[in-house]
Amino acid sequence: MDLRVSGILASRSLTVIDETIRSAAFLYLKNLCDTYAYVVPYEELKRGIEVNGSTIHLVGPSGIWKPKACELPLSITSTFNGPYPDAITDDLLVYRYRVGGAAHRDNVGLREAFRTRTPLIYFHGVAVGKYVPVWPIFIVENRPQESSVLAAIDPAYISGGDISIPGLLDHPSETGPETNIRRYVATLTRQRLHQTQFREMVISAYSHTCVFCRLRHAELLDAAHIIPDSQPGGEPIVPNGLCLCKIHHAAYDQNLIGISPDYVAHVQPRILEESDGPMLRHGIQGMDGATIVLPRSRAHRPDPERLDRRYQQFLDVG
Ligand SMILES: [Zn+2]
Repeated sequence: MDLRVSGILASRSLTVIDETIRSAAFLYLKNLCDTYAYVVPYEELKRGIEVNGSTIHLVGPSGIWKPKACELPLSITSTFNGPYPDAITDDLLVYRYRVGGAAHRDNVGLREAFRTRTPLIYFHGVAVGKYVPVWPIFIVENRPQESSVLAAIDPAYISGGDISIPGLLDHPSETGPETNIRRYVATLTRQRLHQTQFREMVISAYSHTCVFCRLRHAELLDAAHIIPDSQPGGEPIVPNGLCLCKIHHAAYDQNLIGISPDYVAHVQPRILEESDGPMLRHGIQGMDGATIVLPRSRAHRPDPERLDRRYQQFLDVG
């Protein structure tokens, strides 16, 4: 068993079977994340794990999921474009009670998980049927007035067990350097969730097609920012995104290829003068003057203002 996982669980007053299930689930998720680069298909979560001869699903029909064999909930899920406005703010996730009032057993389960500091799994929907798992998370505050709880994302997840931060898990509410590490890691997790979601949204808006060369191999495609996320206007939203293959992503980032606000591709004049093999000739030079592939939905098209800002940069380096 993963020592990190068992260490976390040792401090909690869980039944043996609850503990066994959680440990097995965390290990299973680690493998799934390795296999699927953190974007796990629903079927895999639904298929679940075998523990003591019975199948434990990791997700269920409602957002707060407690397998029959567990005393407390195992996971909470936010579906992509779901009915509940869950939000990740600062280093915390605001998770809403399910419909049915505070006394609904799922909501009671959430509060019990809070009281007992039980580690849970959070499944963040990033596309239809695709989730980024985050674990362990802990509920750190109950907010009955707002019908929600606050959950903290724990650093043990990101460190993958390689970095030990002694005492961190035992004093989640204290201030000091450990809290700073916690915040830092939670920020990384939040960025990963946002980036993964951005990637899924952009690539599916373009039907898995590079805007320049029309390559349709998901494993060779990226979601590129038009305005980098470090600058104003660089939000991870589809109108600030472009679906690009790896080569064209690099070429766009380096301003070897630019896109004018009328959706036309431009190659730097000095590149057009070079002569080389087929990648340069067809893959780069051949794009000059072509209209890029656009998403089917108008709302998803690249924002012309952002394109213009970026295109000025392209002209400047030329
Ligand atoms: Zn391409």
